[in-house]
Amino acid sequence: MLGVLGGGQLGRMWAHAAQTLGYTTAVLDPDPHSPAGLVSHLHLCADYLDPQALAQMAQQCAAITTEFENVPAQALAQLAQTLPVSPAAASVAVAQDRAQEKAHFTRCGVPVAPHAVLASAADVAAVDGALLPGILKTARLGYDGKGQARVANRTELLAAWQSMQSTGLAMPSGDQAPGANAARASSPNLEAPHPSQASIAAKTIASPPGHAIPSATVCVLEKMLPLAAECSVVLARGQDGHMVHLPVQANLHRDGILAVTEAGDGALDAALAAQALKAAHDVAQGLDYVGVLCVEFFVLQPNAPGGQPSLVVNEIAPRPHNSGHHSIDSCDVSQFDLQVRCMAGLPLVQPRAHSAAVMLNILGDLWWPEAEAEAEAEAEPGAVGAGATAPADMRAHRATDSAHEPDWAALLALPGAHLHLYGKTQPRRGRKMGHLTCTAPTLAQARDVARQAAKSLGLAPW
Ligand code: ADP
Ligand code: MG
Repeated sequence: MLGVLGGGQLGRMWAHAAQTLGYTTAVLDPDPHSPAGLVSHLHLCADYLDPQALAQMAQQCAAITTEFENVPAQALAQLAQTLPVSPAAASVAVAQDRAQEKAHFTRCGVPVAPHAVLASAADVAAVDGALLPGILKTARLGYDGKGQARVANRTELLAAWQSMQSTGLAMPSGDQAPGANAARASSPNLEAPHPSQASIAAKTIASPPGHAIPSATVCVLEKMLPLAAECSVVLARGQDGHMVHLPVQANLHRDGILAVTEAGDGALDAALAAQALKAAHDVAQGLDYVGVLCVEFFVLQPNAPGGQPSLVVNEIAPRPHNSGHHSIDSCDVSQFDLQVRCMAGLPLVQPRAHSAAVMLNILGDLWWPEAEAEAEAEAEPGAVGAGATAPADMRAHRATDSAHEPDWAALLALPGAHLHLYGKTQPRRGRKMGHLTCTAPTLAQARDVARQAAKSLGLAPW
């Protein structure tokens, strides 16, 4: 039996891959309806640090992995005392903290966005003006654009910093309670945090003994960069250091959440793809990483017209990634197959892409198509990222009663369309309910099909 900490959709697709090779699967996740728990042989419905649950995982599993980065690194470290755990707790700990993550990239010689780590009010006051306008991000627990605020100047920076101090995660104006707060779990119109996220406190700086200085939520201020595109590399690294990877994929985010991934010839400039691959290898090597790793990049607009675009690394995910979902249908070895092979010590072979692919995320928003159209009309032109979430929240409020499922049959009528639904019964705005991968011999053909699918779903064109 193989085990996973975390029972979301990534765990579910991992379980399917493990079962294909004849393994049984065990899931530790406090959510009784977790997508991976529903398809596994054993679901331990308990907290990630529950001693009995961890002991049972250690006793019944031959190896352990994780499917979301905010699982307590301590749980992985404890399991690693008696059985193989990949990725290692130390690698996961780096990915859990934006400040550590960026320091690691710099150590590896991989370019990052200009940034400053803000651990105190004095750090905020001393910020270099060259970092503004920027994005203030909590060092820990951010995901899908949450825990971020776009700040144009020092006044906005200070206000966002103060808001993050009181909530642990700052939210853009108009948004709801923060993800690290239990309030979000009961909010009907936002994606609930992963159950453990509600219980893990944001990283704080301990006050010296005997001093009542309030601790601070550490944040990272990043300079706002002119993005031409975004891309990611999903790789797998074995215990012997051997690495294989999926083709570099191009990603489009909306409201801070991945919306579209394209993979195949023409998705990305070949020189940039080679640079991304090299950087991703260096990052994995530097961590002595074992397992599947996703490295996300920003492609920057050229400094001068006609110049070359350049690349900076954004962040890593110590697990399979949403941008690699297409590999289930477009490659002969998927990212989930690679995760199973890594943890079981099986051979890692280089995946071969047999098709070009375009993946569309299916979010809970699509259960309210009329409100979607209304919100489109209301949205400010050019609004991107976390700051653009307010209209969407309002629409979910108005439309909760009229939810209905998208027309799956219309999607399945399209040639090369592969529908994956995660078994979640409650659609919510921003909640990942499934994805659709459109495969075809060429990227242009895959795009054609994906555009028809997007139209049928009511998704905005790209
Ligand atoms: P998360 O951990 O929530 O995915 P990211 O740091 O990846 O957060 O940010 C989410 C998205 O916001 C990115 O994919 C990108 O589109 C945009 N973004 C983040 N940081 C910057 C930046 N420094 N400059 C421009 N856009 C950014
Ligand atoms: Mg990201």
